[in-house]
Amino acid sequence: MTHDLDHPEIREAVAKLCEGFPGAYWRDCDRQQSYPTAFVTALTKAGYLAALIPEEYGGLGLPISAGCAILEEIHRSGGNAGACHAQMYTMGTLLRHGSEAQKAQYLPDIAAGSLRLQAFGVTEPTSGTDTTALRTTARLDGDTYIVNGQKIWTSRAEHSDLMLLLCRTTPLSDGMKRTDGLSTLLVDMRQVRGNSLTIRPIRTMMNHATTELFFDDMPVPAANLLGEEGKGFRYILSGMNAERILIAAECVGDAKWFIAKASAYASERTVFGRPIGQNQGVQFPIAKAYSQMRAAELMLREAIRLFEEGNNPGEEANLAKMLAADASWAAAEACLQTHGGFGFAEEYDIERKYRETRLYQVAPISTNLILSYIGEHVLGMPRSY
Ligand SMILES: Cc1cc2nc3c(=O)[nH]c(=O)nc-3n(C[C@H](O)[C@H](O)[C@H](O)COP(=O)(O)OP(=O)(O)OC[C@H]3O[C@@H](n4cnc5c(N)ncnc54)[C@H](O)[C@@H]3O)c2cc1C
Repeated sequence: MTHDLDHPEIREAVAKLCEGFPGAYWRDCDRQQSYPTAFVTALTKAGYLAALIPEEYGGLGLPISAGCAILEEIHRSGGNAGACHAQMYTMGTLLRHGSEAQKAQYLPDIAAGSLRLQAFGVTEPTSGTDTTALRTTARLDGDTYIVNGQKIWTSRAEHSDLMLLLCRTTPLSDGMKRTDGLSTLLVDMRQVRGNSLTIRPIRTMMNHATTELFFDDMPVPAANLLGEEGKGFRYILSGMNAERILIAAECVGDAKWFIAKASAYASERTVFGRPIGQNQGVQFPIAKAYSQMRAAELMLREAIRLFEEGNNPGEEANLAKMLAADASWAAAEACLQTHGGFGFAEEYDIERKYRETRLYQVAPISTNLILSYIGEHVLGMPRSY
């Protein structure tokens, strides 16, 4: 089952690095809900988190297919890249929309691993998926923005120095487009944490280091505005295809892990005097999940190809994310069922990976919202919202 055409040398090196972080490591982090610091440090030292940063800023200057290869291999090895994957796509917003001065100030340190840009604050408790209804405001006072409001599900905020923050700089008024008046700020959390920025961890069904944030007159230098004021929504949108593509690669990695586990166990576990995998009731769900994974992988390849040619493949990136998330979930189901009672035991890692891969049906974008994108933007049906 090797169909890994892209970056075989990177895949091999990442797989080797991941051998140092076996199931027991991830189980322990999961049990304590602790941040996998040693893993993130190893990944940073090896340069993988700087894979997509251009060489002129000290990164590896690799294309998105390399980012996908890295994330897929982490997940395929039984690990989870959720603790650090955001740096790959949030960095793209800074790269595309930051000024030369901002890029020169931050990217080399991010590439070197001495500065972390792991957090992005978009979702709010009241607005949810309806991003343009967000209520966090930034008011310009001299050369400083004063930020007030709240974010939820801001993952990794406790383990990041910088955060991309989407907030409203112009209040909504009659006739104004809801997507206008939003701005993206690069917040240096080291300067405000514990004062005007309060971070509260949220415990979740899997270990994800996610938090809620409260801004109480939080000062952010106006120099930290990315691009133009009022155009922040577009900047966040412009990073979403990359995010979908990278997350789809994680799902493909998860699906491969579940399928490998399930088919191995089905072949060796003997009940009623024969391997359980000899029964088609056990064999077929695994085969079906495999076919779903391969189809998702092909769509992912297509999305990567278009993206690397400089296109904006909204359709393919969304389809790849949805198909890959469905494949990983089907594979998780098949794997758990194949293992019977043992699937529920911590030491097999299946229940942990099962909880982890469930997230992709909801975040970073829920399946319904992808379907509505396809229905409305690809098939031209009436808008539902
Ligand atoms: C562990 C975790 C980590 C996250 N990390 C981050 C992060 O780092 N930064 C960040 O900004 N956000 C983050 N999120 C937020 C995530 O992007 C949102 O949870 C997700 O986009 C869904 O938004 P919501 O939870 O507000 O659901 P809601 O918008 O309240 O939706 C609830 C349900 O209703 C459905 N729904 C809503 N509207 C429609 C509609 N018009 N048609 C059909 N169905 C609809 C949705 O599909 C969903 O299933 C994270 C979430 C989780 C759980």
